[in-house]
Amino acid sequence: MSEVLRGDVLDGDKIHSYTQQDVSEIYRVNRLMRNATPETGRYKGNLVHAAKIPSVVIEKMRNGQCCSNGIKYDLMSSDHEERKRALLHVQSEHKQNMTIEGTPFGKKAISWR
Ligand SMILES: [Zn+2]
Repeated sequence: MSEVLRGDVLDGDKIHSYTQQDVSEIYRVNRLMRNATPETGRYKGNLVHAAKIPSVVIEKMRNGQCCSNGIKYDLMSSDHEERKRALLHVQSEHKQNMTIEGTPFGKKAISWR
């Protein structure tokens, strides 16, 4: 996993926190793994390595700062339904984090209640 840099910048009377991570190597390996996904039998067996998600993406999703216009997705939630909702968001909107093709987390997105 690549290094995650965190910092704070003082801007007048406000402090802006930031997180940086070079995700290019993670996404390069994820793409290679997706390309190696077999056409059939991809979910055969009990466990499938379906995604590798950089820390910076997990954090942005949790803060509502990814592509979601402020909607928050918590991959680390203790609530199973919230984790599933977040995984469906990764599967549909952040495919570069997926290590296999297809829809291993389910077929349709759960709408926010
Ligand atoms: Zn997103």
